[in-house]
Formats: sequence, C-alpha cells, structure tokens
Amino acid sequence: MAEQKRDYYEVLGVDRNADDAAIKKAYRVLAKKYHPDMNPGDAEAEKKFKEASEAYAVLSDPDKRRQYDQFGHAAFEGGAGGGAGGFDFSGMDMGDIFGDIFGDLFGGGRRRSASNGPMKGANLRAAVRITFEEAAFGCEKEIEITLKDDCPTCHTTGAKPGTSPETCGKCGGKGKVVYTQQSFLGMVQNVQTCPDCHGTGKIIREKCPDCRGTGYIASRKKIKVAIPAGIDNGQSVRIRDKGEPGSNGGPRGDLLVEVNVSRHPIFQRQDMNVYSTAPISFAQAALGGEVKISTIDGDVLYEVKPGTQTDTRIRLKGKGIPSLRNKAIRGDHYVTLVVQVPTSLNAEAREALRRFDEVSGQTLRSQSGPGPREEKHKKKGFMDKLKETFED
Ligand SMILES: [Zn+2]
Ligand SMILES: [Zn+2]
Repeated sequence: MAEQKRDYYEVLGVDRNADDAAIKKAYRVLAKKYHPDMNPGDAEAEKKFKEASEAYAVLSDPDKRRQYDQFGHAAFEGGAGGGAGGFDFSGMDMGDIFGDIFGDLFGGGRRRSASNGPMKGANLRAAVRITFEEAAFGCEKEIEITLKDDCPTCHTTGAKPGTSPETCGKCGGKGKVVYTQQSFLGMVQNVQTCPDCHGTGKIIREKCPDCRGTGYIASRKKIKVAIPAGIDNGQSVRIRDKGEPGSNGGPRGDLLVEVNVSRHPIFQRQDMNVYSTAPISFAQAALGGEVKISTIDGDVLYEVKPGTQTDTRIRLKGKGIPSLRNKAIRGDHYVTLVVQVPTSLNAEAREALRRFDEVSGQTLRSQSGPGPREEKHKKKGFMDKLKETFED
C-alpha cells in the first residue's frame, strides 16, 4: 500500500499563509540538515530530503502552489493508476532550484575551508535595464563587463617568466600572521592577513610584465544575457562560469545579472497580473459598445455593457505576464474603465445633452444657474434639513 503523503506545509513546517521567503528559509534549513552530502548512506535522511525538496518545488512555484491549495496532492497525480509517492519533476527546473539554494548554502563554506584545494571563483554582479514588454516576453541583451582571465605569460603565478614566487618570510607561506597583544583582558591573540604577501603566502621578486604581478589579465568582454519571459524587476539571471577565475584548478564563479525593469506609461504589474486604466466616453458607458483597450499583446476590442459605471474593473483573462517557469501560463490583465466627463462642448453637443436630460427626466441647470450646493439643497427634503440643524 502507498504510504499516506504528508501535507507539504507540514513537511516544511510552515503556516499555510507563509510567504515565499518563509518557505525558502524553511526549506534551506531542512535541505541543509538532510542533504545526502551531509548524511552519506542514511536512507531516512535521503527520504526526508526528497520529501522536503518536493514540497519546496511545489510551494515555491505560485501556479503549483495554487493548484496544491485547491486540489491537494491530487493536483499532481497523473491519472488514477499513478505510481505511489511518485512525483513528476519533469518540466520543473530543479537545477535552478538547487542552484539557487545550494549556491549560497555550500558555495561560501566550501570556498573558505579548502584553502589549498581547487577553489571556485567569486561571483560577479552586473545589472541590465529592460522595458516592461521585454520583461513580459523575454529578450536577449548584451552587456559589457570586466572579466579576468589567467595571464598566459605567467600562468597566474604573477612572476616574471624564468623566475618563480618565493615563500613569504614573514608568515612562512601561511598568508596569516598572529599578533599577541597585551590588553586589559590579558594577552589577546590576533590573527591578521600577512601585510607582506597580502594573504597569498608568496612574495614575487620580479613581477610578470604582462599582468604586473597579479596573475590575471582583465579585459572588457561582451556577454549575451538571455532574459526569460516573465522576469520581474529585481530578479537576477545567473550565467555560469562568467565570474572570477577559480584557483588551483577550480571552476570560475558565476555572473549574476540583476534585471531592472523600466516603468511603463500605461501598464503596471503585480506578479503575473497587469493593471491599467482605460477611458471610455459617457455615451459608451451609457449605451455600451466596443472599446479599444491596450494590452501587452496589442490593442483588443472589448464589449462594454450598457450602463457601465466609472471605475468598473474588467478582467482580460490570460492577457497578463507569462509565468517564469512556463510561459504558456499567463496572468490576467485588469482594466479600470474610467468614464470621461466632457470638459468642452460645442453648442450642438450642449443642446443634445440638455435634450437628453429633459427626456431622461432629470433637470439640468443652465450654465449660469445655481451652483451644485444650492441645487443639492433644493432636492433635500424637510427631514434632511431638520437633521442637519440638529447635527450643527
Ligand atoms: Zn602574468
Ligand atoms: Zn606573508
């Protein structure tokens, strides 16, 4: 018999209303605790790790989370005969999820602990500005960054060809020096980066002329950045192996390109939904009819119902922003219809409106007639006036 699957929120130990940050945080804690690298050969830990990863994969994706909230585990079961406990990770970029989580989770720690083994290079950061539409539909941008490469002359030693770096005499090649100081707490040991070799443990007597002893040559490089459809302001695109060079044979770091989305004159965005306002004429509002509405797909015609009030909000289903994980899924576009009151009327239009007012049974003041306050007072009944008197 299939084991009863635990509730995803319960697995991560978060509230059903938990936000993305809380979910990510809860997963990081569990992933770190049960990661197979940390628990070699422990089947129970592996099971827990998979369970947490599955829960995170669903709850971190707004669409999947919505489906899960609505249908529970049944949302992801492929038909009645679906394998027990099987979860389909296809179509889900787990590499992305793990890159995200484990990039910061293990990257830093490993780098620090293995000082003479291969070390991954540091990540570089850059930014790119794109338009609202480019964010919605994805684009490719070229950015220019300064990238360091191994110096081909000295092969990163920094020493002039034919010479080699010497071990630093001050720190004995450790890169660190220990100072013992007398303080009011007693003798205090202070570990500092060696001032002679700046932590490298080596002294270069004759510097490589090509890299001036740094071991690396920096140059401006053009990098193509593929920006996926659905990206939002402030999110980053990771480009592998375009960061700082690694050392001792380690891989390069990554380049993280932060995306800044420019404001749009008409559209606003929240998550996958687009919001805008559209003017409609008084006649269109009253009589109904087709109005042209701008969407990110271009203009669409929308049939306004007769008697539409100002600030009526309509929904254009599927005209919003595509999901970052599956661009076939799109948000909606909400349009607030604003009825325009004409500010300048010619004689004919004025006459038509007067006529309208007469036949619709309302009284219309002439332009030189009493102001709105007086008009209001005229319409007030005796009881209203009495009430007003008492309220004063
Ligand atoms: Zn060099
Ligand atoms: Zn030194």
